[in-house]
Amino acid sequence: EDLINRIAAGEVVERPASVVKELVENSIDAGARRITIATANGGMDLIRITDDGHGMDRDDLMLSVERHATSKLSEDDLDDIRTLGFRGEALASIGSVSRLSVASRPADAETGLAVVVDNGRRTGPVPQAMNRGTVIEMRDLFAQVPARRKFLKSARSETAAITDVVKRLAMANPEIHFILEGSDRMMSNWPAITGEGALAARLGQVMGADFVENSVPLAMARHGVVVAGMAGLPTYTRANSLSQFYFVNGRSVRDKVLVGAIRAAYADYVFRDRFPVVALYIAIDPAEVDVNVHPAKAELRFQDQGAIRGAVIRAIGVALAAAGF
Ligand code: ADP
Ligand code: MG
Repeated sequence: EDLINRIAAGEVVERPASVVKELVENSIDAGARRITIATANGGMDLIRITDDGHGMDRDDLMLSVERHATSKLSEDDLDDIRTLGFRGEALASIGSVSRLSVASRPADAETGLAVVVDNGRRTGPVPQAMNRGTVIEMRDLFAQVPARRKFLKSARSETAAITDVVKRLAMANPEIHFILEGSDRMMSNWPAITGEGALAARLGQVMGADFVENSVPLAMARHGVVVAGMAGLPTYTRANSLSQFYFVNGRSVRDKVLVGAIRAAYADYVFRDRFPVVALYIAIDPAEVDVNVHPAKAELRFQDQGAIRGAVIRAIGVALAAAGF
């Protein structure tokens, strides 16, 4: 069982950034409106996620660290996944390769409860004074798995990977307040934004006012594909594609079809070796896209690639033309 968990951990827990992604997605699934992410030493020594979501009662708390225990999915839901998590693997996996503490206090509880999993050994629950919501703390990732610890990069590059993950989650969820803290300083603080213009305002927070000033809003619905977000002007390019962000149904993804569509959309404007800056949001019937390709990687497969490609190219073409390009 412990070995199985550790093998499973390899799938879900590649590095600190993947832990952050799993934990923050859980907070989002729990309806959190404010999520604080604190890390030390690139997340290798400490990752602490504090949320104000609906929390867990005693039973859910004990179940949460068991493998394949998820409160989010029943058999017939598999084709219609609305939550970010559904495998019930993350907490068990993380607990098998670190010192994990899960503390939670649901809205109707007078106090919180905490359970600890120390490299696969569970103790608790014990009462814990805390605000409503959930606090998950992971310490000393891979301390007992030297073969894995060895493959972690410098604190600096792990911090960069965590920042990228949080950035993408914040871009996908403007209505949530995100706070990212390093061991000695606040790195990002993006208050919640709601209502009209929320997305553009969040993009301004995360990508900079610069981007918003030099881009056009996308709004297109075609053949069941809705395209939103912002596309940079052809005069506002970068030397690499790191500033191209893709979201499908609220998840950050990497996808060749979308990359190809962006390239085609700008083919007439942008010179070779320059890349447009884009934050592209696709909404599509979940039955038309398979997100189940890999548990940790942000890959997916569209049923109708042509429809996606067409909608993206058209959305950008129309928006740029309206801006005089
Ligand atoms: P999954 O997200 O796939 O269900 P996880 O291992 O990530 O599996 O989490 C296990 C369970 O723990 C979740 O189904 C959920 O019930 C509970 N849980 C985890 N994190 C939180 C949180 N921040 N707030 C409330 N419940 C949580
Ligand atoms: Mg999860």
